[in-house]
Amino acid sequence: MDKSLVERDRQAIWHPYTQMRLAPDPLPIVEGSGARLKDELGNYYIDAISSWWVNLHGHAHPYLAQKIYEQALQLEQVIFAGFTHAPAIRLAERLLHILPKGFSKIFYSDNGSTAVEVALKMAMQYWRNQEQPDIDDAIKSQRGVSSVLRGITRKKILALTHAYHGDTFGAMSVSERGVFTVAFQDYLFEVAFADVNEWSTVNNDWDEFACFIYEPMVQGAGGMKMCEARALNALLKKCRQHQIICIADEVMTGFGRTGKLFASEYLDEQPDIICLSKGLTGGMMALGATACTQKIYDAFLSDDRSKTFFHGHSYTANPIACSAGNASLDLLLQDECFINIQRITAKHAGFLQQLQRIDVVKHPRQCGTILAFELDYGDDGYLNNISSILHGKALNKGVLLRPLGNTVYIMPPYCTTNEELDEVYNCVLEIIA
Ligand code: PMP
Repeated sequence: MDKSLVERDRQAIWHPYTQMRLAPDPLPIVEGSGARLKDELGNYYIDAISSWWVNLHGHAHPYLAQKIYEQALQLEQVIFAGFTHAPAIRLAERLLHILPKGFSKIFYSDNGSTAVEVALKMAMQYWRNQEQPDIDDAIKSQRGVSSVLRGITRKKILALTHAYHGDTFGAMSVSERGVFTVAFQDYLFEVAFADVNEWSTVNNDWDEFACFIYEPMVQGAGGMKMCEARALNALLKKCRQHQIICIADEVMTGFGRTGKLFASEYLDEQPDIICLSKGLTGGMMALGATACTQKIYDAFLSDDRSKTFFHGHSYTANPIACSAGNASLDLLLQDECFINIQRITAKHAGFLQQLQRIDVVKHPRQCGTILAFELDYGDDGYLNNISSILHGKALNKGVLLRPLGNTVYIMPPYCTTNEELDEVYNCVLEIIA
């Protein structure tokens, strides 16, 4: 007899963020359409978390699929050093057009973590390139390279408590130290962490910070923590006063999730660098992008080749992924999409009022299409096992939820209908009852 998909999965696959001994069998999904996923037995699930926050317009969207197909038939991949192509150029131009003012270059990579790595490396090398004379000049001055190489004064990095920026080493280093990072803590570089409301306690010389990285308005994996624009503005202003490079990680908040195209639009103070991924392709293809201002870019222009930005991935600016990005923007920038975002935002606001009356619900909150609360059950934190219980119960009711510990959140694709939202809300109410 043929082995089932689950048996074959169990034999061959190691899943992300999954304790393989304790986790229930994975659910084989065979199809997606709109906000729904269908399993091999024909059961449907509303994807209330946009499949790890990537999906914007619905699953297997025919327009996106068509554009990917056309691109795959024309040009599937080409090395991106020394070569270029229209899908990457068009996507970069369009991103620069819709991002907050002041951005002038796009650097492509593969995912959210790499978009963050690129941003951190840009900021670190910015200071090195600024503070070090050209090696060529040093040699010409006949004083020798070592005599003119000074120590870099801007070496420290500032991040927010509760931050999550990804799973590669740089991204882990700037993330809150906790269960995700504990096994690697000896290998992570040192970072100062500031509370967005109490940063005046930061015990460092602010002129030593090279950069400050933050998730604007909503901190995702750290527990859907939401902040006041006023508080973050004040911290950003302080960074500005000290010429610290500001990096907005909009990997999760970008592309309409918070009710604006980018969460940075809620803020007066704008970053020097923005990290994008997830919704960048509408959830169709893996792609990362790091946008920077002319000031950052200019610091790498030199006759001295050692000032080059030595970073790139095999699939940098993959044409199919860029085409998915362009197709997703086609849909995102239509009025219909923003009407849907506003519709979901308004529906969430109604549900929030209902949640406020429930005893076991703590800190119900919302930012645009993201709604979250803590369930008053056990300790706050990712390892609270209530998460897997709620996940299982919701699946039985045809809804995909994946609470972060006892933090329950809803972040649906924008095509989710009012009826589907009601199904999700009812499911949440039933499982917490
Ligand atoms: N930054 C933020 C704010 C994120 O939420 C995530 C992923 N959840 C990442 C970075 C890392 O993205 P990826 O998983 O694509 O590497």
